[in-house]
Amino acid sequence: MVDFTQYVPKKKAIFAHICPNCGEKYYPAPMVCHTCGTRRDPTGSKFAEWPVEELKGPCTLLTWTRLTALPVGFNDRYLLFGIVEFPSGIRASGLLRVESPETGMKLFARADVVRTNRGTPEVGLVFEKSKSRVSGATGATGRNPEVAAQHS
Ligand SMILES: [Zn+2]
Repeated sequence: MVDFTQYVPKKKAIFAHICPNCGEKYYPAPMVCHTCGTRRDPTGSKFAEWPVEELKGPCTLLTWTRLTALPVGFNDRYLLFGIVEFPSGIRASGLLRVESPETGMKLFARADVVRTNRGTPEVGLVFEKSKSRVSGATGATGRNPEVAAQHS
């Protein structure tokens, strides 16, 4: 029997890596744990692969900026780019889908398509004011209606 599951779009997700020895969480994952020195091997052939945890949910906006000179693949006039901190202490950057961002505001993070590069959707973190109803691979376009409206 043919396995059609390979054609189902994979769930959009960004992962933090957890050191299997001391439990320190990282994003992006280092090759060596800064706390205990445990090595990570992405191929899993020499050292054990580190467990992962999906990076999403409540976070706090640490800082943000407006980018106006965008690389190829972004079709917007500008993008808001933010750095957030999760309750675990992990800091991550991503696309800010908030109309008027304020440092210190509470946001929700999730993975979504942030741009299309030569027809290939690229997934990154997006930060929004409220928990999105759209999740998983159910056809989210990656466009925020609020932001889209500003450009039309
Ligand atoms: Zn460690």
